Amino acid sequence: MNKTFQVRTSTSSIKTRFVALCAIVFLLPFSAWTATLQIDRVEPPHWWVGMKSQQLELMIHARDIRNAKPSLQYPGVTLVGTHASDNPNYLWLQLKVSANTQPGFLNIKLRQGQDSTVVRYELQAREKDSARREGFSSADVVLNLMPDRFANGDPSNDNQAGFADKANRESKQGRHGGDIAGLVKNLDHIAGMGYTAIWPTPLLENNQPAFSYHGYASTDNYRIDARYGSNEDYRRMVQTAKQKGLKFIQDIVPNHIGDHHWWMRDLPAKDWLSNRNTFTPTNHARTTISDPYASALDREGFTQGWFAPSMPDMNGRNPRVANYLIQNAIWWVEYAGLAGIRVDTYGYSDKNFINEWVRRLREEYPRLGIVGEEWTDNPSVQAYWARGKTQANGFRSNLPSVMDFVLQGQMLKALSEPESWNTGLRRLYESLANDQLVAYPQDQVLFDGNHDTPRLFSALDEDPALTRMALAYVLTTKRTPQIYYGTEVLMTSPKKHDDFDAFRADFPGGWEGDAINAFTGQGLTSVQKEHQQWLRALLNWRKSQEVIHHGKLMHFVPDSGTYALVRYQGKNRVMVIFNKNKSDTSIDLKRFQEVWPAITKATNVISKEVLSLNQTFLAPARSVTILQTSIP
Ligand code: CA
Repeated sequence: MNKTFQVRTSTSSIKTRFVALCAIVFLLPFSAWTATLQIDRVEPPHWWVGMKSQQLELMIHARDIRNAKPSLQYPGVTLVGTHASDNPNYLWLQLKVSANTQPGFLNIKLRQGQDSTVVRYELQAREKDSARREGFSSADVVLNLMPDRFANGDPSNDNQAGFADKANRESKQGRHGGDIAGLVKNLDHIAGMGYTAIWPTPLLENNQPAFSYHGYASTDNYRIDARYGSNEDYRRMVQTAKQKGLKFIQDIVPNHIGDHHWWMRDLPAKDWLSNRNTFTPTNHARTTISDPYASALDREGFTQGWFAPSMPDMNGRNPRVANYLIQNAIWWVEYAGLAGIRVDTYGYSDKNFINEWVRRLREEYPRLGIVGEEWTDNPSVQAYWARGKTQANGFRSNLPSVMDFVLQGQMLKALSEPESWNTGLRRLYESLANDQLVAYPQDQVLFDGNHDTPRLFSALDEDPALTRMALAYVLTTKRTPQIYYGTEVLMTSPKKHDDFDAFRADFPGGWEGDAINAFTGQGLTSVQKEHQQWLRALLNWRKSQEVIHHGKLMHFVPDSGTYALVRYQGKNRVMVIFNKNKSDTSIDLKRFQEVWPAITKATNVISKEVLSLNQTFLAPARSVTILQTSIP
């Protein structure tokens, strides 16, 4: 439990009404002795000294607090102003925390008539070099997993008093019991596979009555769901992972909350949520943001519409909402020691709000990784969000990376469909021309699949060879790669695109008594074992390959079912050769001499075999080969 703030109330009247409520040690990180003002929330629950931005806005929730008069005395900290809303139960305090302020507790006095309440609010010291933390990049490989479905390290936390959605492993919409303890237990396996970063779907409290396992409907933005563990468990996991070479990326959802969020019992303002706090469905019309012909009505219909009735849409145009969400994200980065953030439903938020959200985060942490989800098959819609370019309508995005749904979709088509002058591998080839639309293509996150997509192996008709081609592409092209959990052992799913729950089956071996165990290899088929070993070899090789992380790329027009791309940097060369044909195919290497001059020897990076090359290379039927060499 993080030590944060305390509240004390006193009265100057003779007849003291001081009632000592026992220190409130329920999950709120503060204690209270109260008379009139019953403060149940101060958020953020604590803050730090030495942040780049000296502004700090506290949201205080207490019955009839709106007219309370605040004051404080602490060297370096000034009360700049207050805000109230149309709800008398909220008060916002604006503080300035000057550069050399020392850590400690502020006593914030709130006076109401004769009575006063003191909030003891903690300003902590920051971790050394916190602002300079490294983010994730094209040198990393990110593992995306669902905590509820990965491993159950502590069956005793599966059900909790006060949480309605009880564990039910038989239901694909139920909670299965996976948790932080299960993740911690298997960090060595993850690191051993060769991943260098983990993106778990959200771990925040989702105390929703049903369908809560996915985590995208938070009910408290400052608390890890007790069924996963505590805030401190989360922080310890991130620290432990770091020691094993694994960065952590938190999945944050600025666009919406769950309809059982504590705010919903007493909304902070009439415009706290979009559409005056009333459900209106989004039109999902993501093109309206960049479309020069879109109507304002449709644009509003996209960003102001709610994702679902159970997911109230945050009104990022309300400055209190915006500040709350910005500080909340900074709080988690600083508190847990994150390397990055994956932003859910990025384009659904108000454009100016979400751009400012990113700017403030990067102002505090200039190298923090942030990747936004924009689920589109339209390259210009995706590129609109990538930083480094001014768009036609004058917008400049701050977002470092965008999830590359466009290339992922084209990759699946390229591998599934027959070859022709404009289908199959040609599709993969032509898609890279879209890289001209973005300033930093290597920062786009290319993935084999995620919690919202059919699994790769199934999407490719359970063909292990095509699956290896896709993974080799994801891991060697000029992108930041992300792999979905279970891909390593060829997990399957329906191919139907909206059967979400079925894309999120339990990782084999994560539950006591599982007959198949992907951590130990017990019960895996020989095809699964071979695939897992192949992926492990590729990931571990990639870890040290600067040429893949930051090298240039040249590729050549696909020819008769084959395609070659070359990564190059200095004298280092890596050629990736795809052959979709059902027979071995001879490839003329002379065609590649611009970047791959007469080379006589190269190493197969998976088998480590050294090959003598002549003018041709015989690509095995239905294969991908990765050759590495250095030029004289
Ligand atoms: Ca559990």
